[in-house]
Amino acid sequence: MNELLGRVFSFEKTVFPDSRELFGKLSTEGQSPKALMISCADSRIVPEQIMQAQPGELFVCRNAGNMVPSYATMNGGVSSTVEYAVVALGVRDIIVCGHSDCGAMKALAAPEAPEGMPNVVAWLRHGAAAEHVISSCAPHLHGDERVRAISLQNIMAQIDHLRTHPSVAAAIARGEMALHGWFVDITAGVVLGLDGDTGQFMPMREDRPIPVALPAYTRVANEPVSEASYAVAAE
Ligand code: ZN
Repeated sequence: MNELLGRVFSFEKTVFPDSRELFGKLSTEGQSPKALMISCADSRIVPEQIMQAQPGELFVCRNAGNMVPSYATMNGGVSSTVEYAVVALGVRDIIVCGHSDCGAMKALAAPEAPEGMPNVVAWLRHGAAAEHVISSCAPHLHGDERVRAISLQNIMAQIDHLRTHPSVAAAIARGEMALHGWFVDITAGVVLGLDGDTGQFMPMREDRPIPVALPAYTRVANEPVSEASYAVAAE
């Protein structure tokens, strides 16, 4: 038997008994995860490990390239997971998490589409804006530098896509939702966080606030209620 598959028995014999109380509580009370992480499916990125999360704490959606299709694009697993997390579970923080040495980002950066993988090619279109931004704004980048730049830009692009989902847009408008963009450098063992004000990905440091892509505060379209306020605005 594949040695990895055989480890399921240690879950039953060791892991579960050690956490019986926790699972009992989660079974009777249900889950109330504190955040949704949308990460790449890459085997080297383990959301629960990065967050040091116990069962019940983190809602996770993984796919090639940590993509979030725009709301109007299609009804799929990501859209449904986002909607459920926000509406049913009341998640108030969503993290889009990319990483270094990402196969999906390398494919996105390559001039030729990967052969024999029509679904991957179609899926990568969700990251087309990121590739286009870097090709347009940083044409001097090549090789690994270009892939890294596209990976960071792709995190920003997917955060933009998240905002097209009505459940997310409404939660943002109510001031109840913060969006985060993280990049895990698996060579350096460092997690970078997107500062939405500057577009910079900053190393996380315990002695300063975690960078936030879109902080939670109320954002609803409005206009001044009286002519007096128009007058003030015009001055
Ligand atoms: Zn990846």
